[in-house]
Amino acid sequence: MQSPQPTFDVIIIGAGASGLFCAINAGKHGKSVLVIDHANKAGKKILMSGGGRCNFINMTVSYQNFVGNNPNFTRSALSKFTPHHFMEYIYKHGIAFHEKSHGQLFCDDSSKDILNMLLTECDDNGVQITLNTHIQNINKINDIFYIKTQKDQKETTLTTTSLVIATGGLSIPTLGASGFGYEIARQFGHRIIPTHASLVPMTFTDNIGDMIKSLSGISIDVIASNNKISFELPMLFTHRGLSGPAILQLSNYWQLGENIHINLLPTLNIGDFLIQYKKSNPKKLIRTALTPYFAKKLLTALESHFWEKHKDTELANIKDKTLSKIGENLNNWQIKPSGTEGYRTAEVTRGGVSTDDVSSKTFESKHCQNLYFIGEVLDVAGWLGGYNFHWAWASGFACANALP
Ligand SMILES: Cc1cc2nc3c(=O)[nH]c(=O)nc-3n(C[C@H](O)[C@H](O)[C@H](O)COP(=O)(O)OP(=O)(O)OC[C@H]3O[C@@H](n4cnc5c(N)ncnc54)[C@H](O)[C@@H]3O)c2cc1C
Repeated sequence: MQSPQPTFDVIIIGAGASGLFCAINAGKHGKSVLVIDHANKAGKKILMSGGGRCNFINMTVSYQNFVGNNPNFTRSALSKFTPHHFMEYIYKHGIAFHEKSHGQLFCDDSSKDILNMLLTECDDNGVQITLNTHIQNINKINDIFYIKTQKDQKETTLTTTSLVIATGGLSIPTLGASGFGYEIARQFGHRIIPTHASLVPMTFTDNIGDMIKSLSGISIDVIASNNKISFELPMLFTHRGLSGPAILQLSNYWQLGENIHINLLPTLNIGDFLIQYKKSNPKKLIRTALTPYFAKKLLTALESHFWEKHKDTELANIKDKTLSKIGENLNNWQIKPSGTEGYRTAEVTRGGVSTDDVSSKTFESKHCQNLYFIGEVLDVAGWLGGYNFHWAWASGFACANALP
């Protein structure tokens, strides 16, 4: 039996950031492109991103802003697609933006600007998008992929010579996330690096959990670290645990069972300060000495936790060694998270399709010709700050340029 003519040159599964950007660039090369998504809307995560203002790029991106089993995997795609390349689209579409900090660019108005830009570019480059379309199975016979789909009760088998999997990770299932990309990867002989919710708040139990909950709503600048990395950024106490940029960034490097270290006052060596303060204020309390540095509610909680025994003792009657120890505990608070809030609130998924099984230049599978994996479905997770979208754009761009 002769193989049929493929319906499309390229079929991309997933109308998220990486899928749409790959489609645009494949369309520019004159390819007929279909993007399939099971959700009722394209780019749902883009709309939700950056608190509704989409942190669409980070001007300082480097391979060091990504985690995964192969730390060098992102280098090639990042070198061929820089933030300036993406900015050409932003200028072309007249999207107003601002820099928040550390090279993070956000829309002035709304994330919709980015999604509308991508959909306009898809349209201009002849890309077709089908939503509410469920994939039942995928098979490859000779050089053709057969994709059996169902939409509105109707079953259709689409065919293509190049198949791109851009189905993202597991974070936020209500936005369309699924493990479908991993299933397809396994079907075609790929390894999956175990997945974890990442860029995610951490949870705590016992008395630490109660103390943290009691401080819900308070944000302070800290250094959050583990034995791999440190982040000096704000940390937020919530009714579930610890959040804020410092904790989210650290979660990319944290494993269950590990302690984390929080410096609650990075600008001061608290032990040395208390010992000096005692010399000129022997009748004062620790609480008084630290009043300028912590909000009242936080200070009360820290007192109960770190120096309850000495809370009514004048400094003159507390040994330097004890003050030094209290300071050390505040500058290096060691706590063990019981877990994270999980995929329900995580911004990304760590782990995914093994990068050993995919070309870092073309994103083609090493096990199945003309099958490609791009974006977050791969074992690549970026830092907070626009890096994950940059990865979606850069991997989508490299793949589009490599399609036969
Ligand atoms: C709340 C939130 C805020 C974020 N904010 C930022 C930010 O400001 N800056 C930043 O850089 N990153 C941000 N991120 C991360 C960023 O959104 C992702 O890393 C990025 O969207 C990944 O792109 P992707 O194309 O790989 O996957 P996605 O954008 O997740 O797209 C995957 C698509 O595949 C579809 N799909 C899944 N399974 C199937 C299936 N079985 N059949 C058909 N279609 C399927 C989904 O419906 C979805 O449309 C945020 C993430 C979240 C959750």
